[in-house]
Amino acid sequence: METIYSCLRDAHDQDLLWIAALVCVTGVYASISLARHASRVEGNSRKAWAAVAIVSSACTAWATHMVGLLAFQPGMQAGFDPLLTLMSLLLTIIGISASMGTAIGSRNRLRRAGAGLLLGLSIALLHYLGQAAYLVTGRVTWNVQLVALSLAWSLPLFAAAMVLSGDKRNSLRHLAGPLILSAIALLHFAGMAALELTFDPRISLPESALPPDVVAPIVAAVCAALVVLAFMGLRFALAARAQAIRDRSRLKQLADLAVEGLAICRDGTIDAVNGSLATLVGCSQQDLKGRTLSSLLPDTPLSKLSEHQEQDGELFTNDGTRVPVRLLRKIVKIGNVDQTVVAIRDQRERLRTEQRMRTLAFTDALTGLANRLQFNQILSANCEKANATEERFALLLLDLDRFKFVNDTFGHAMGDELLKRVARRLSACCGSTTSIARLGGDEFAIIVDEELAQDTAETIIDVLGRPYLIDGSIMDIAASVGIAIGPADGSNPSVLSRSADLALYTAKHAGGSVYRRFEREMRERAQARRQLELDLRRALVREEFEVHYQPQVDPGDGRFQGAEALVRWRHPERGMVPPADFIPLAEEIGLISPLGEWVLRTACEQATGWPSHLTVAVNLSPVQLRDSALAARVMQILQDTGLPGSRLELEITETALLQDEETTYNTLHALRAMGIRISMDDFGTGYSSLSYLRRFPFSKIKIDRSFVRQVPEDQESVAIIQALTSLAAKLNMTVTVEGVETAEQRAFTVSEGCNQIQGYLISRPIESVSIRALFNEPLQSVA
Ligand code: C2E
Ligand code: CA
Ligand code: CA
Repeated sequence: METIYSCLRDAHDQDLLWIAALVCVTGVYASISLARHASRVEGNSRKAWAAVAIVSSACTAWATHMVGLLAFQPGMQAGFDPLLTLMSLLLTIIGISASMGTAIGSRNRLRRAGAGLLLGLSIALLHYLGQAAYLVTGRVTWNVQLVALSLAWSLPLFAAAMVLSGDKRNSLRHLAGPLILSAIALLHFAGMAALELTFDPRISLPESALPPDVVAPIVAAVCAALVVLAFMGLRFALAARAQAIRDRSRLKQLADLAVEGLAICRDGTIDAVNGSLATLVGCSQQDLKGRTLSSLLPDTPLSKLSEHQEQDGELFTNDGTRVPVRLLRKIVKIGNVDQTVVAIRDQRERLRTEQRMRTLAFTDALTGLANRLQFNQILSANCEKANATEERFALLLLDLDRFKFVNDTFGHAMGDELLKRVARRLSACCGSTTSIARLGGDEFAIIVDEELAQDTAETIIDVLGRPYLIDGSIMDIAASVGIAIGPADGSNPSVLSRSADLALYTAKHAGGSVYRRFEREMRERAQARRQLELDLRRALVREEFEVHYQPQVDPGDGRFQGAEALVRWRHPERGMVPPADFIPLAEEIGLISPLGEWVLRTACEQATGWPSHLTVAVNLSPVQLRDSALAARVMQILQDTGLPGSRLELEITETALLQDEETTYNTLHALRAMGIRISMDDFGTGYSSLSYLRRFPFSKIKIDRSFVRQVPEDQESVAIIQALTSLAAKLNMTVTVEGVETAEQRAFTVSEGCNQIQGYLISRPIESVSIRALFNEPLQSVA
């Protein structure tokens, strides 16, 4: 060490030594800043600038070395071998290129240390080759120990510097420059100290040797070039910094425009946030700067954040609330530095909307009860549970009786209000723990424990059957309930629902206001009904219907007055099916209109073959009467068949008058105007409303056979028939008594002054050919 120091102090020009140091610092700065610039630009410019940086660093080493040599005062004449000097520079360039090539893009420490050794070796080569090029008029000997020492000290330093320059940490990276500088200095001065020169007058410099005053300007020119390069590097660095500042401010402007919260982070620490994030967290942008990202997102470490896929997380705001958010991470280059931008999107509004939509999708908008969709899910869950645990539950289906009537009469607004009231009563009497749903229209469904099924059904029928006061009008409806037990009556929702539906159907058919529990026969009956329905639809096309006639006579003299047309269905397998078995079904499935029209046309046609004073009576279904085109159709049939209107009677029942009075009234008056007589059929069994008798244009009352059956024994029946005949006389109507089976009954009707009788006593309904033969017999009486 002492040798090196004395060599520095005594054998060197001190001013030039300082210049050497300055050249070295300037050159190293130029090389590093150019290398950085190379890493900022792309493509061919990158390669070009990397080459400039390598040449610049080689020149730095070379110039430092040369200035150091020029500063050396050997005390004798000195010169430079031009070839070796040039070679030392070229070899250094090659060596440094190889070293950089090895180090670039690699963070592997061993590889970088290798690159450092390569760098050290090339600078050592420069040094010792350069010293070999240094010629003096004396003998040159080397202190091998110092040479070895120069290598042993500097090479590890080079290696360490290269490893540090590739480190992620800024502080360690900054140590690389000074380390290289000290390695070069050590190598140079230890090398110089190792050189021992002894003056020998016999030795002279070769002719080719360049004297120092020739070499000095060349070295000066290289140094000047290095200064220029250093300035360029400085300019690049400043420009890059300005660009980084511009980038950052542009990013900030953009970020502030974003609706999403954005945080720009470096190593998990927040560098900047936008206004949206500050608002979301509930503090100022300034306050968030410097905080760790994990203080906002404790459950989502930065390393777990995906760069490609949004993920869910929870943001902790300043007041301690946890806000559900969507997170996305992006790496952004700002001024050549990688920064992490985390996008944070508030999910509260979206989740609220989703919840709203789910509610809308699953509830009935009118009543607020569960809708069919939700109920299906509840029912499925109940079925699954019941199948697994064998715990039974009851499904109640309920349907309002007469709701359609209220809806049609009072209007849909009132109908809606009524449904709301029904829903409220249901919720009140079933409790909040049961599942209640409106399946649509006036259909509701309820799930209760099996033991509660019957009580619940009874309560519902009672509570819903009480009158409703809406807008000053009193409304009366009732409810029918069908009960099915899961899983006994159906282990899956669809079978169970069908069972409850069958029970409900049975309850409604029983007249309403009752509940029925599902029974297996219901399924069989339903199957039979379905089969009948299929057969019925085909019967009209296959011409399986025929019309039979039952004569009507004057009870006094027994003269024929006409006959009632009664439809018959000759089923290919079942034989003759009575009308009571298929007329209601035909009404239900909409087949009654074509069937009724066919009966009417057939009856009119066949009646034209009877003596011209005889009438034909045809039954009209309430469904037919609701059709406003009925009168026109009847007119057409009369025209087509040529039967005068005065020979046709139409029989209607009271139920037909209940609905749509306006249309019925108009139709009946139109028919009456054609000379057709209208009979009130089955009088006494329904409402027996006198007002109907007055309001509508009836010509005849037919007293139902249930009254006739018990005369003359039953006093009540006798009284009714007496009252009806006197009433009819006052209203200017005739009276027909149906179902007369005995001579006593006939005698009674004669005594009461009835105008017409019909019944098995006279004749059963018979085929059209038979009635025609009967009517055309010379003796026009059966008496
Ligand atoms: P309805 O109009 O009251 O017809 C009289 C029913 O009483 C007929 O039954 C007839 O056969 C039966 N009957 C007649 N005399 C006696 C008797 O002395 N004793 C007993 N026990 N019964 C007697 P049917 O033909 O089975 O018809 C039943 C119901 O079917 C009819 O009752 C009527 O409401 C309906 N119907 C029949 N044909 C038609 C039709 O073409 N159109 C419509 N809409 N309904 C019809
Ligand atoms: Ca009748
Ligand atoms: Ca009747």
